[in-house]
Amino acid sequence: MKKNDIVDVIIEDMSDEGLGIGHASGMALFVKDAVVGDTVRAKVVKVKKTYAFARTEEVLCPSPDRVTPVCPVARSCGGCQIQEMSYKAQLRMKEQKVRSNLERIGGFQIDNNRNVWNKPDTLREREQGAERYGVFCQIIGMEDPWKYRNKAQFPIGTDRFGKPVAGFYAGRTHSIIDHHSCGIGIEENRIVLETVLDWMERYHIRAYSEETGEGTIRHVMTRAGFATGQLMVVIIAAADRLPEEERLVSSLRSALKKAEAESGGFCLRSIVLNTNKARTNVILGNGSRALFGEDYIEDRIGSLTYRISSKSFYQVNPQQTRNLYETALKYAGLTGKETVWDLYCGTGTISLFLAQKAKKVIGVEVIPDAIRNAEKNAKLNHIENCEFIVGKAEDIVDRIERADVIVVDPPRKGLDRAVVETILRSAPDRIVYVSCDSATLARDLKLFAEGGYILQKAQPVDMFPHTVHVETVVLLTRNT
Ligand code: SAH
Repeated sequence: MKKNDIVDVIIEDMSDEGLGIGHASGMALFVKDAVVGDTVRAKVVKVKKTYAFARTEEVLCPSPDRVTPVCPVARSCGGCQIQEMSYKAQLRMKEQKVRSNLERIGGFQIDNNRNVWNKPDTLREREQGAERYGVFCQIIGMEDPWKYRNKAQFPIGTDRFGKPVAGFYAGRTHSIIDHHSCGIGIEENRIVLETVLDWMERYHIRAYSEETGEGTIRHVMTRAGFATGQLMVVIIAAADRLPEEERLVSSLRSALKKAEAESGGFCLRSIVLNTNKARTNVILGNGSRALFGEDYIEDRIGSLTYRISSKSFYQVNPQQTRNLYETALKYAGLTGKETVWDLYCGTGTISLFLAQKAKKVIGVEVIPDAIRNAEKNAKLNHIENCEFIVGKAEDIVDRIERADVIVVDPPRKGLDRAVVETILRSAPDRIVYVSCDSATLARDLKLFAEGGYILQKAQPVDMFPHTVHVETVVLLTRNT
């Protein structure tokens, strides 16, 4: 097999990255834009020793799970990897991914009734009739898996006729495909982009160029509070002041007011200018100034209020975040007497959720800014039984008072070995593990199982429909 070969291939499986997997000429083939169950004609783009990459040229026989994507640009955009797969099939695929990682990497066994057995105890325990097994719960999907993202960032550029454009980067290049409405984002994105582009054209305001470092407007970002209906627009520019600033503000206000009156969408509460003069592909710069309203908006998850600035970390799918946190809270089994650690607490979103039912929560997080935000959010909600500590979880956990319940929500690489060991040593009654990577989750669960914990519940949650990502909440209890 060589580059540019055309091959017909049956797609048997999906990779973790959302590529279709098939076989041709004795090689595994990873095919872009293919869905499991398809037969496709594909063009080989890269050949390795035992496998190759290809791109779908033509769908010869579509899978029953294949659908027409909502975004006409789904293939070139790359923001979603599996928009051509029905939502039902996406959920099945994600659940299967978590399940197979728990089995292959974690060493657990999941039977047809969704019972989870901790190997190697499985048979012995089953014979003894012990109820020492957990449940692998059905994935929580969204009823309507569109327009769920509360944050969007669009690069601004110039087309070959010199006109300003907004959209997304084509493939791995730096040319921008002009596209203003994203299926998983809010409707207002289109209005915001069109208003900004119109203003740029009218007053000859240039887009920033990554190649030359010249020009002004770099990105446009929107953030929305789904529970409060508040909208923030952030203009990221290589300047401290914008020419015709007031005109931009008034155009955005009137365009969005009109849309709000017509269709009852979000209410514009904040326009922020963020200054980024650095020659970098980091989107936000350090300085920011409100051009209209405050420099933050608010949102609510459950009964808690969160203040969101242009820079704060905040979960992008609030509806599923609520499902995720409520599952974590339920698993924590709090009665009001417990001391709880929330490791990798970010801006304290989970900590505050837990604090409502715990005696005390200690949040640990490595980014000082996030901790400041967490403290502010605690104050905003009049929560006084939360303490936040800046530092690496692996350095801090040995120094804080013992916890009855430990919640962890680490980044993709999972838990540091030292953290697992400290948790085992401190022997909490319950461990709640929130994970965005089921492979590292399974690796860590194996260590907890070996350390005497039983996997009681594993609950996958679909936080990012049409992408390959899946979150999982797990409850472990001490085997006493
Ligand atoms: N629980 C939060 C966010 C979790 S994201 C929420 O639901 O909003 C993971 C967080 O872990 C990030 O905020 C990251 O900064 C932090 N982090 C990464 N490595 C860390 C470490 N070694 N110790 C503590 N926190 C860490």
